[in-house]
Amino acid sequence: MTTHRLINRRMAIAEMGKAGLAIVVFGTAACSDGDAVATTTATGSAAGTTARPATTTTTGAGSTTTGEPATNTGSAASSYQRVNLDFVSAYILYRGGEAALVDTGVTGSAAAIQAALGEAGLAWDSVGHVILTHKHPDHAGSVDEVMAQAGGAALYAGEADIPQIPSATAPQPVGDGDNVFGLEIIDSPGHTPGHICVLDAAAGILVTGDALNGTGGGVALPDASFSEDMTMAMETVLKLSGFTYEIALFGHGEPLLEGASAAVAALAAG
Ligand SMILES: [Zn+2]
Repeated sequence: MTTHRLINRRMAIAEMGKAGLAIVVFGTAACSDGDAVATTTATGSAAGTTARPATTTTTGAGSTTTGEPATNTGSAASSYQRVNLDFVSAYILYRGGEAALVDTGVTGSAAAIQAALGEAGLAWDSVGHVILTHKHPDHAGSVDEVMAQAGGAALYAGEADIPQIPSATAPQPVGDGDNVFGLEIIDSPGHTPGHICVLDAAAGILVTGDALNGTGGGVALPDASFSEDMTMAMETVLKLSGFTYEIALFGHGEPLLEGASAAVAALAAG
């Protein structure tokens, strides 16, 4: 895909309004012990819904997990595919055969990302958007490999991190109020100054990067030893608690598949 859209919040809300608010989200994932976890969240009309089975596929570089929001016609909600690189995860948010890749893993992760795209029925030419949550090499490490494969994709990152991202392609700066492929960008500084999160409001999915860590069914602050400003990181947790999402997809840790924004609010209150 070569169409890139960077539209403002007002346009995004107008689009969401047209899409309507009746959305059903299914998230599925596999735990490390092999047990499947399925989450069903209904917003608005939820008649006639059926849970889907978890899909887990082992690839050469790790496992990928599919979560498919089942959406009513006209919804702009995305499905997601986890690229589990063991130490870190990247995520593919996709709909209508077009995808946004959020983060790229460490150097050498392109093959695992390609496998995850395949699991979702996608290929490199589906990737129109590559969003880096922050500058660290476990998130931005494969950016050049990815951009070489996904010819024509647009690259985005938070402005304050861009000078430290050693990519051949200059990222476009994005932050609060920006919308990429129907996804809301949220400034979330602290772990790094230019950290951003990605919210799919229609699907109820927040991709947190390292603004939050998963704890295996819970949520925690980022590791202080790798974070530049923990006071700001805690302010960001409070900010992230002000949005509504059922699912949180972390850079580090197992995804939280239900009650995610409530869990973040509890963390902020603590
Ligand atoms: Zn980091």
